[in-house]
Amino acid sequence: SVEMDSVHKHYGQYHALRGVDLKVAKGEICVAIGPSGSGKSTLLRCVNQLESISGGRVKINGELQGYRERDGSFYPLSPGQVSRQRRRTGMVFQRFNLFPHMTALQNVIEGPVHVNGERKAEARQRGLALLDRVGLAGLGDRYPAQLSGGQQQRVAIARALAMEPEVMLFDEPTSALDPELVGEVLEVIKSLVSAGMTMMLVTHEIGFAREVADHVIFMDEGVIVEEGRPSELLGNAREQRTQAFLSKVL
Ligand code: ATP
Ligand code: MG
Repeated sequence: SVEMDSVHKHYGQYHALRGVDLKVAKGEICVAIGPSGSGKSTLLRCVNQLESISGGRVKINGELQGYRERDGSFYPLSPGQVSRQRRRTGMVFQRFNLFPHMTALQNVIEGPVHVNGERKAEARQRGLALLDRVGLAGLGDRYPAQLSGGQQQRVAIARALAMEPEVMLFDEPTSALDPELVGEVLEVIKSLVSAGMTMMLVTHEIGFAREVADHVIFMDEGVIVEEGRPSELLGNAREQRTQAFLSKVL
């Protein structure tokens, strides 16, 4: 599960998250929508500690992230402890961030071998199975430049899964793709929903959100304006700001 409790984030003077409360239960998928600059990426980056929060708490499966609480006071964790926590979340970005000089399989096993110290033979075995799982069986020896955008994005998902994360975070994973390649990436995400992965996803694919989300949040100006089941929020929004946004994207 992911729990956010009154989370604030400042970038210098700029107040990007202004008190976010959110609960994503284990095995649920929460989809975030909202206008550009509303804080959606910041939200995900705070969950996996790419950004440190300025106030509030983030917990993953009950464990406080970034801090240790003792007698009501909070003490920051060491960088080593933070990177250990960060491995519990897998993140996939809009732009494929694969290593260009490594094959698909090498990209997938890089973390398990070099970060986790897994034996190469075992990592390869698991890596091949993961490539199979994202529909890329047989393409493990290709370099990123030899793969389509949709295939690269699926390698990025396999690479995140290789670290066996407890939570997967997707930041507009299909918005840099040609329209005909969007479906294959959404299919892989859908298969993770069926497998019970806990996920947070930022997307403009409202139809997909309606289909897979357990929970949709609408963000604007650093707050969650409205949240609910997709049928409620997408079909019957209460807030004027949500209605105005949806009328533009639907
Ligand atoms: P988009 O839909 O365009 O991706 P978003 O909802 O993901 O937008 P964020 O990227 O979270 O929005 O940004 C929220 C606000 O914080 C924006 O006003 C942005 O300019 C600001 N911001 C984000 N990152 C930084 C940074 N590193 N330094 C300063 N300001 C930042
Ligand atoms: Mg963003």
